[in-house]
Amino acid sequence: MIRVGVLGAAGRMGRMVCRAVADDPELSLVAAVSPSSAGRPIADLIGPTDLDFTVSDDLNALATAAVEVGVDFTTSQAVMANVHTLIEHGIHAVVGTTGMGPKDLAEIERLASGANSNVIVAPNFAIGAVLMQRFATEAARVLPAAEIIELHHEDKPDAPSGTARATAERMAKARVTDSTAPSSETIEGARGADVSGIRVHAVRLPGLVAHQEVIFGGTGEVLSIRHDSLDRVSFVPGVLLAIKAVADRPGFTLGLEPILGLDA
Ligand code: NAP
Repeated sequence: MIRVGVLGAAGRMGRMVCRAVADDPELSLVAAVSPSSAGRPIADLIGPTDLDFTVSDDLNALATAAVEVGVDFTTSQAVMANVHTLIEHGIHAVVGTTGMGPKDLAEIERLASGANSNVIVAPNFAIGAVLMQRFATEAARVLPAAEIIELHHEDKPDAPSGTARATAERMAKARVTDSTAPSSETIEGARGADVSGIRVHAVRLPGLVAHQEVIFGGTGEVLSIRHDSLDRVSFVPGVLLAIKAVADRPGFTLGLEPILGLDA
């Protein structure tokens, strides 16, 4: 049994991950950290369970509970300090929190290199989204003119999404020519954000969960590659895979592809 602690346990993702870990016969949920819920029984967050520990507001609770893998679904403001603490305590980290930039990722890679704990960061744990990014990267080699529309629920704090940024960066590296359309705007922002030369448009609306469409333009043809997470449960299988894989992946791993056995 792998001993798991969840950071951000009272959040939308945190609760779902806590429940899934508690229900998985190979995993054991032993700690949960979420400041606003400190002192509450874990059952308040995840429903009926035999587990009887309380939620903590202190990251030291993870070490006290001998957590082997810490799963972070918190905020872009909290995540770096959390990863530092996990590595200091020799706890492997699986990070789903988005909003980290290339400097943060480089810092995590540096911290994880040669450390006793390994780190997996995945901006998107949905397996279909991983494939969507991969297919889009492949298409960019042949159809370089492309734009990304990402659509998320209205509470998402970061824009563009981590998935859209990562997709744009991968596509920019893959394409042979730069086919960015001219970006003259009569109203600022109308052409979206420029991510590595690819225009990214962020939609925020109630009713949405997490969606992304990559649109390629060719001569007399258009190709759309789209993925829809219709429910947050779509992220859970990928999170569970990462929890089970992290101890065997020394250092830093970015994204789920290597864990799914897909080539870089
Ligand atoms: P949320 O509902 O707002 O939950 C965030 C939680 O983080 C809150 O419950 C908050 O706890 C907790 N928190 C804040 N600071 C903390 C700290 N220092 N230590 C421990 N907990 C802390 O957000 P969400 O929808 O669950 O999303 C969380 C993150 O995951 C976001 O960055 C989101 O973009 C990302 N996400 C990633 C994926 C993926 O596949 N990688 C999928 C979905 C979401 P309190 O309530 O106790 O203050």
